[in-house]
Amino acid sequence: MRRRVGIIGTGWVGASVAISTLQSGTVDELLLHDRNADLAEGEAMDLAHGAAFYPASMVRSAAMDALLETDAIVVSAGRGGRANESRLDLLRDNAAIVRSIGARLRGYRGIVVVVTNPVDVLTQVMTEAAGLPPACVIGTGTMLDTARLRQLVGSVLALDPRSVHAHVVGEHGDSEVVLWSGARAGGVPLHGWPRWNRSREPELARRIRDAAYEIIRRKGATNHAIGLATGNLLRCILRSERRVLTISRVHTGSHPWGGVALSLPTVVSGEGAAEVLEPEMSDEERRGLIRSADVLRAALDGLRAVEPVASTE
Ligand code: NAD
Repeated sequence: MRRRVGIIGTGWVGASVAISTLQSGTVDELLLHDRNADLAEGEAMDLAHGAAFYPASMVRSAAMDALLETDAIVVSAGRGGRANESRLDLLRDNAAIVRSIGARLRGYRGIVVVVTNPVDVLTQVMTEAAGLPPACVIGTGTMLDTARLRQLVGSVLALDPRSVHAHVVGEHGDSEVVLWSGARAGGVPLHGWPRWNRSREPELARRIRDAAYEIIRRKGATNHAIGLATGNLLRCILRSERRVLTISRVHTGSHPWGGVALSLPTVVSGEGAAEVLEPEMSDEERRGLIRSADVLRAALDGLRAVEPVASTE
């Protein structure tokens, strides 16, 4: 069976997702689409010239309709935040883009991966606009924040980040919550490591939360780590790996986060994000997660107030 993936929006992020996906060797065909057709075509040509250095696969630019025949579509269309603008301004602009793409994806049978920010609210906008089941629309959510956490903890303990098991949950943004209480390194609770200093936790959490601002201030965008994270997520979907990842999806049920898209550890497979886990949390962390859900609900309400059709496309 040929595995095909589409990317919509081939700017900084889309290009990095493309190279990570080709390097991972999990796709037979990669289709690139951008509102700026020249950009998608130029990226496809450039990537195709590297074919001698990644496992066999084909890459080409394509019209939207061709992407409907793929197994997964990554949506990285939209823009990043600008200085001195409110989050709601960015949300409104990118929501319009994601909603129009979602309308084209009605009836799509693969998995949609949303990367465009603010990713949680836009995962919800996409789910509603495309009319797809919540498990089939996955936001990259706090995958990137969790990767940053594992890298930071690894550097403090002088360990490979792959030996660190720790999660960031909630919003991919200011209200995100680091679950220090359940964090482990090499199977040992983080708080049991003599080298671990609990008083540094707030500073480390702040560094994770502000990482994007720091990178954008220096180079104008973040792209490589999110490209690698998204490539990893695509591999889990295409190979039905059933790995547990902190991705975002719309939650159902009577949890305090029911009706909102946010990140929790979730089993990811070819069916998408069907099994959401509830990790070990201290009371304070749980309160933080509920606060994060409230922040996201307010952002969605704000969007609906300025654009009453937001949920009905
Ligand atoms: P960019 O401006 O470099 O690229 C965006 C691309 O989207 C452009 O090429 C543009 O032509 C295209 N586009 C816009 N509307 C389109 C449409 N309707 N159809 C097709 N293509 C369209 O931006 P970037 O740096 O690549 O960032 C893209 C998004 O990813 C931003 O919202 C950014 O905030 C987000 N991002 C998310 C994460 C995360 O962790 N979720 C991390 C980094 C960046």
